Amino acid sequence: MPEASGKNRGDSPRACPVPDEPLLLIVDDNPDDREQCIRMLGKIANAKYHFVEASSGLAALEKAAEVKPDCILLDYSLPGESGLEILKKLCEANLFLSIIMMTGQGNEAVAVQAMKSGAQHYLIKSEMKPDMLHNAVRAAIEHSALGRKISEQETLQQKLVQQLIESNTQLERFAYIASHDMQEPIRMVTSFSEIIAKDYGHLLDDTGKEYLGLIVSSGQRMRDLVEDLLAYSRMGNEGMGITSFSGESALAGILENLKGLIEQQGACITHDPLPQFYGNPVQFMRLLQNLICNAIKYQSKDTPPEIHIGIEDEGSEWHISVKDNGMGIKEDFIEQIFQPFRRLHTWDNIQGTGLGLAICRKIAESHGGRIWVVSTHGEGSTFHFTLSKRLTQTAEAA
Ligand code: ADP
Repeated sequence: MPEASGKNRGDSPRACPVPDEPLLLIVDDNPDDREQCIRMLGKIANAKYHFVEASSGLAALEKAAEVKPDCILLDYSLPGESGLEILKKLCEANLFLSIIMMTGQGNEAVAVQAMKSGAQHYLIKSEMKPDMLHNAVRAAIEHSALGRKISEQETLQQKLVQQLIESNTQLERFAYIASHDMQEPIRMVTSFSEIIAKDYGHLLDDTGKEYLGLIVSSGQRMRDLVEDLLAYSRMGNEGMGITSFSGESALAGILENLKGLIEQQGACITHDPLPQFYGNPVQFMRLLQNLICNAIKYQSKDTPPEIHIGIEDEGSEWHISVKDNGMGIKEDFIEQIFQPFRRLHTWDNIQGTGLGLAICRKIAESHGGRIWVVSTHGEGSTFHFTLSKRLTQTAEAA
């Protein structure tokens, strides 16, 4: 006959359990009732359990924390604190325990209360049969094993996310230092090659002039790249001053910055009236300016850019959109363009660093928002971003 192993008497310490043998904590002030449970489970073929017993709620709490049983059989009527109170405390201890509540007689109200308070099962002692008890115990053990597995996975996931955040932070710090330190030598290359072109250009033949022109333009390109890389890595490394600012004034500043490009391309830019925003005005301007600049740059040939800046109040956030009639983006690339250095054009074709939209995304996210694009290839694109209004409350509270 199969037998229950490692029987322990009232408030017993844990005897050495055999690995893989489930550990059951039986909590009952009546030794005969505890004995009955052990006997019933001992009758089940191919099932071996290890038992620990407790005769009061307090002893049960201590034992549960000490031995972390796979399942607890908990009597409803205990001396001192009731079984329900002990059940709640066991659940709060977050030990991923599965608990079966037992009562002497059937009582529906107690059953409902027990299940609501976190019990996995409810059994009436007077009606209990070995199979019934065994099935309830198996189900409870599986439940607690699953709970523990999920918790382990979550802990592992949190650890991985933390490692990823740390390695990203380190990488961005490296990019920040590298790009910061590269600025000076690049400035030397570009300014001295410009001086050579100006003061000694007449001494060079056509090939020499061509080579020097390549040095100047490559230097400028390198400078743009380093400036954008610095801006990108700076986003995570510097504190963000939040203040109230006028959307209208920010847009006027942007249009002034882009005046040359707008005139050169004959762009027509319209906009909805913009409200007062809360956020970092410099970063907001960079975000919107990048989008407007792209809307002008990525234009279909021979079509003057028509751009509209829209705004919608969506309760907890502002929704801003920049719509163009440009070349649009193929569906396959729509997700990719927000990644750093992802460009769909060669530099010779349309100049850029591939960091503009990655910077935009960081700015939107640091303002509690998000950014996305809706586009039809050959017809145009609408870039959308949101700004959380909750920043308002944080700023006001500060
Ligand atoms: P950059 O403009 O410096 O290349 P961005 O990160 O701003 O870098 O843009 C990434 C890519 O997304 C661009 O190279 C371009 O191919 C595409 N793109 C951005 N804005 C638009 C737009 N308004 N219309 C079509 N394509 C766009």
